[in-house]
This record gives sequence, structure tokens and C-alpha cells, in this order.
Amino acid sequence: MDFLSTQSPRLRVSFATAVQDNVPGDGGLFMPAFLEPFDDLEALLELEWHPRSVEILTRLLEPELDRAEVETLVSSAFDFSVPLEPVDGEVAALELFHGPTLSFKDFGVRFLARVLALLRARAGETRERTVLTATSGDTGAAVARAFWRQPGFSAVVLYPKGRVSALQERQFATLGDNVRAFAIEGSFDDCQALVNQCFADEALASELGLLSANSINVARLVAQILYYFEAAARKSRAGSLVVSVPCGNFGNLCAGLLAQRLGAPIGALVVATNDNRAVPDYLTDGRYVPRPSVATLSNAMDVGAPNNWQRVTYLFGGDWQALRAGLRWGVADQAQTRAAIADLTRLGYSADPHGAVAYSVLRETLRHGEQGVFLATAHPAKFDATFDPAQPLPPALAEVASRPVLAETLPVDLAQLTKKIRERTASAS
Ligand SMILES: *Cc1c(COP(=O)(O)O)cnc(C)c1O
Repeated sequence: MDFLSTQSPRLRVSFATAVQDNVPGDGGLFMPAFLEPFDDLEALLELEWHPRSVEILTRLLEPELDRAEVETLVSSAFDFSVPLEPVDGEVAALELFHGPTLSFKDFGVRFLARVLALLRARAGETRERTVLTATSGDTGAAVARAFWRQPGFSAVVLYPKGRVSALQERQFATLGDNVRAFAIEGSFDDCQALVNQCFADEALASELGLLSANSINVARLVAQILYYFEAAARKSRAGSLVVSVPCGNFGNLCAGLLAQRLGAPIGALVVATNDNRAVPDYLTDGRYVPRPSVATLSNAMDVGAPNNWQRVTYLFGGDWQALRAGLRWGVADQAQTRAAIADLTRLGYSADPHGAVAYSVLRETLRHGEQGVFLATAHPAKFDATFDPAQPLPPALAEVASRPVLAETLPVDLAQLTKKIRERTASAS
């Protein structure tokens, strides 16, 4: 399938171009060009997770990728389980945190890393490329892990100093080798702006062979479509399926909307945010006002100006009424997030703060007879608010917990950052 730009829908590029270029360069974002519902949904839903994922991705990416290539990608990128855990009679959690860095980011980023390696091998490329990413916590871990020691790639991770949990930081800032982490003295939005400035500097971008792994990359989006089908396939009750998505940059929600357009039987998607509420406020009053992010317990959702939002509006033709008709939404503030964590604990389920935001808003928006699913996007042990010292750390965290942090601290300053990136690149070659 071809990909188009949300700004120039007539533009058509290949999957390879969309993944490697990351953005079309016209201010828009890449989107799949055709979104028709599959006509054999029942059969698709009867398949198991891996064969169904291979089937869906093959249909989306043929003829550029053939079935055998997709099979290799799927079996190596998604080599972990995706359980649907019942919480009570009405609600279940789709656990997306069983990958190596214990967040749902592993789906998109592991798939992206493997696609990039495949394209590199195909093209017979020999020079090293630098994957540059800004993280509010979990992306950095997933990117660092997915590219760590991967031949032909190095990774640079920028994160807001002091605004990610200690364990999150250890997941990306202790690996070393071809992975470098910079603690930026600013917010996530400052980190994102620095990354954008690096990509805008054409000389720098081509000198370093810069690649992006941020949630605007269409490979990440495509991979995340798959688990919405899994939720639909596994739901046990008769009622309409309502899936609540804890939103930050809105990549995950966008993948859910794509799954819906491809026919996944999802009655409604719920936009759940923390106090970073630019989108819920827009849906409520029609005024879209991006704003500086505020720090919350669910730090991976602390995004004031979501970078995938234009994809969502594109899918609804930019029509506010259509967005309102097509989505449900709500906000869980800090107190409501804590209350949701406590409620879930009483129900015997331990959720992380991001999943708890999704649960809280799901409860507010779920109607009688519906089956609710909230996306549990990270393991509770990653966050101070839901870390239970009585429980042993999951092995993936125990492994990095005692390693020294290797990050360098930098101010929000493009010149200093590019100097640092170039230094190491020069000494490595
Ligand atoms: C990144 C992240 C989110 C937000 O996902 P988006 O696709 O950016 O909306 C939610 N929860 C966790 C744990 C995350 O890491």
C-alpha cells in the first residue's frame, strides 16, 4: 500500500520512503492511502495473534514486503504475549507491557527497528545511521533497547531531566555502546523541539544519516494497529467493545482509529488524558489550544502539543462535529488517577498510572451492556506511584536497576547538543 501526506493527500510514497523519511516535508504526516474494511473479518478474528498479525501486515504492506518477510518481522518483533486480563464483569485490561522494556512502545519501536534493518540490508547501505529521539520516558527505553548493539545504527535519546522515573531512566541511560542519553534541562516539549531542529538542519541530518523513531513514524503506527484486533478477537461478552486509550502524543489512539477503519469491531474509542488536556478541551468546546506540558504521575502522557493530533483530525476531515461523534473523551486529574489505582487494587488488579487514567475515564464513559477494555500501557513497577516494594522487580528492570546512569546533562541548546552528537560520531568512525 502507498502512503500519503495529511497535508497533500495526492502525494503517494512507498512504505520504505515513509518509514525512512519519517515526515513528508510539507508539514503533514504520512498516513496509509487506502483504508477499506477487510471483508473476511470473522475469519481474521479467529486467527491467533501471530498469524493474524502476519495476515494484516501482509495485506497492508504488500507488494513491498512479502509474506515471508512480514513473518520474520512479526515473529522477532512481537515475541511476547498480549494478555487480556479481566478486572471485573464489565472491564478488562489489555496488557501491552510484556515486551523487553515493559511498555507498549515495544510494539512500534521493535517493529520499526527491524523494518529499518531490513531496508538497510536491501539497499546494501554501509554507513552508520543515527536514530535520534525525544522521550517522556518509555520511548527512550524502547528505542535504546531495540537499537542497542544493532549493527549499522546508533541511538541518541533526549529526555527531560528529573521528569522520568528512576527506573525508566535506567532503561535507556545505562546501556552504553551505541546508545547515548542526554538529560535536557527542560520539558519533554523542549526535547521534542531540539529533535525537530536537528532534523530541520539538512546538513546535520544528512551528515549523521538521521532517522527518527518518534511516534510520528508510520511504522510504529502500523504495528500498533494489530493489538486492537487482538482486543476485538478476545473479548468474551456480547456487548459493544469500548477501548479506552491513555493518550499523550496520540499515536496509540490513531492506531486504534486505523484499526476501526480496517474493520476491527470496536464500538467506540475513548480519549483518556491526564491534566494535559488540550484535546479533551477541544472536543468539549471546539477551541484547540496546544500548551506547555504539566508534570503528572502518568509522565509518558505529559504532552502539551500532541504530535499525532493532525493525523486524528485528518481521519475526521478536520470536522469538529465528526470528531465529537466518533470519539468519547475525558480527563483523569492526579486525584482521580490515584483513586483509580486504589479502586483497581481493591479489585485485585495492579495498574500503572497510565493504565489507571484510561480506566478512570473508561468508567465515566462506559454505558450499560458494553464491554470495556482499557489499554494497560506500562508495567506498574516502572513508576514510583505504583511500584510495590513487596513485589520482586520484573527481571527486565532488575537487570538495569543497579547499573550506573551514563547520561550527560545539557541545557536546552541546539548548538551544544549537535556538538555532542558530532563528537562521538566522529570518534566512532
Ligand atoms: C507513550 C505512552 C503513552 C502515550 O501514548 P501516545 O501514543 O503517545 O498517545 C501512554 N502510556 C505509556 C505508558 C506510554 O509510554
